[in-house]
Amino acid sequence: MYQTVYKTRQTLSTAIASGCSRSRVLIACLCSAFLAVSGVHGADSDRFATVQVTGQKVAGNVHILIGAGGNIAASIGPDGTLIVDNQFAPLAERIQQRLSALGGDKPELIINTHFHGDHTGSNENFGKGATIIAHENVRVRLVAGESPRDALPAVTFDDRVRVHYNDEAIDIVHMPAGHTDGDAVVWFRGANVIHMGDHLFNGSYPYIDVDSGGSVQGFMKNLDAALVLINPETKVIPGHGPLGGVDAIVQSLNLVRASALLIMRETEAGTGDAQIVALLDEEFAAAGKGFISAERWLSIVRKSRAANGL
Ligand SMILES: [Zn+2]
Repeated sequence: MYQTVYKTRQTLSTAIASGCSRSRVLIACLCSAFLAVSGVHGADSDRFATVQVTGQKVAGNVHILIGAGGNIAASIGPDGTLIVDNQFAPLAERIQQRLSALGGDKPELIINTHFHGDHTGSNENFGKGATIIAHENVRVRLVAGESPRDALPAVTFDDRVRVHYNDEAIDIVHMPAGHTDGDAVVWFRGANVIHMGDHLFNGSYPYIDVDSGGSVQGFMKNLDAALVLINPETKVIPGHGPLGGVDAIVQSLNLVRASALLIMRETEAGTGDAQIVALLDEEFAAAGKGFISAERWLSIVRKSRAANGL
């Protein structure tokens, strides 16, 4: 069942009262793996000094914005501006400038695909006077990380929620225990565009945050589930990497499955780690050139196998 969220704050309150759940528990604090991937260490804002935020139309009212951190989707239309993810806090002003250049306003609705700081870093900035929507576990983890009040999702959901905005239905669908335990993909049904969050590193090994409830097995299941949601013409915004089509998801699923099988087979056969990394680099040469090297992918698969069976 879809819970329905309308565009006004009054009806959002109604949606909260009628079904969307609030934070229930606090859980473990942020792990070092998350800090490594999100780059939220202390005073490192200088590294953003030269980052430019670019934008292009994808289809319908939907645009992609690329800067540093997770790709952003923006819906700009008669109701106003909605964004999916928002990179790092030092980039908030540049993101707003790009939204304005594309004809947008200050975002009224903000969707978080998951809690990592390279996707939620500007929540506080954009969250002042706007409504943040995310899976319940995103709120739980942001609260556990002592995120400021304005950075917290006001509307949370367990399974899925539909937002009606800028003349289309936007489905936000939970992808359980994949990249983390609180991910969602966002499907703009009218424009026929999906934002995959970090369930897609287009062309590379993905990062899977096992310490935050992610698993290789769940990740593969979720890619299958996303493929069932969409259709062959859907345009695909990855969490990281270039804009793609449905084939990007299929290729990622094939890469994850084939490389994880290779790792398990060779581990079983007693092959040494250096040799397994060499085999991965031989078989999936391009995949290890991104954020996650073959060596790191090997350790992610091992960790997921130890924690979840895979
Ligand atoms: Zn992430």
